Amino acid sequence: MSRKKWLMFDRPVTRAEEWKHITPYGYGWPGIKKGRWCTGQLKTHLINKAVSQLRKEYRILHYVGIAADEPERIKGEQYPLHDWGITESQALQICYDRGFDWGGLYEIYHRCSCWCCPFQRIDELRKLRHHHPQLWAKLLDMDDRALAQFGHNALGRFKDHWTVAELEERFAAEDREISLFDNDKKKGVDSMNVLVVEPGMAPYEKEINGLEEMQAVVGGLITALYPFEEKEALVANDEAINMGLEFNRSVEGGYGGICGPFFVCGLGEEDFCSLPPDRMEHYKQKYHHAEILIGARGNEPVTIKVEPRRPPGQEPPKRPPKTPGR
Ligand code: SF4
Repeated sequence: MSRKKWLMFDRPVTRAEEWKHITPYGYGWPGIKKGRWCTGQLKTHLINKAVSQLRKEYRILHYVGIAADEPERIKGEQYPLHDWGITESQALQICYDRGFDWGGLYEIYHRCSCWCCPFQRIDELRKLRHHHPQLWAKLLDMDDRALAQFGHNALGRFKDHWTVAELEERFAAEDREISLFDNDKKKGVDSMNVLVVEPGMAPYEKEINGLEEMQAVVGGLITALYPFEEKEALVANDEAINMGLEFNRSVEGGYGGICGPFFVCGLGEEDFCSLPPDRMEHYKQKYHHAEILIGARGNEPVTIKVEPRRPPGQEPPKRPPKTPGR
């Protein structure tokens, strides 16, 4: 961690022209626009250096632990897990069977990599805040320092859409939402335009007023999920599995799939709010196709996308009956 911090904040660097105006120290957060300097500097470079050193004296076979379900990561080394057909979840089970439980980390996180990685999914960061508050506090410190040193740009912002401080606000707001639901105080919510997604059907817009209408849309008690990078929520039926509701759509962010109807709405400071028109269109396209569940790979549903039925009121007009021929 300290080496990563030194590289991130203190290492003297020669910047590309577009970043010349920024302090000549530190790489900043790794990101799509600047590349994953950390993967090279802290992982592959060190491993390759050690392997090259050993090659001078020994015949070296370099084994890499890429599993059978990650074939796209196979390059030019030796991949025993892949060769033996062992998937990620099977590899984890083998560890458990031999008494290695990784301190329970895989019970919490979808993947365990650097805790401060900006490429983590939002859901993993939410878990970091909840289960490892000390690391989350360190991440907030790094966020402060990065913004002060580099500013609000690709070097200083943790993610394109989020600083860690903004995520802190979001997660705190989500906690407040959850406690509001718990106390059933949400009846006074203002009307809002949301996108409703029902199993088998094309999504459609709807105006919703208050908790009872939200519950009517999802067919029971509501739960709010936050799988998206943007400040938007997915509100679904909290008891969908127990109620045996039909599979609806696959959803990112580690949630796997959603059963039963759900709606997507915006997320204000304290409450749900309308989706802006461009985001409404975005989600209409995203969830346009209906999905049929045919299996699962770990927590991820395997589905076939099919043409959706039209929502109520948008069915094609019925053809007039044919006039009998003469
Ligand atoms: S997990 Fe993230 S922070 Fe860690 S080396 Fe990989 S890209 Fe960098």
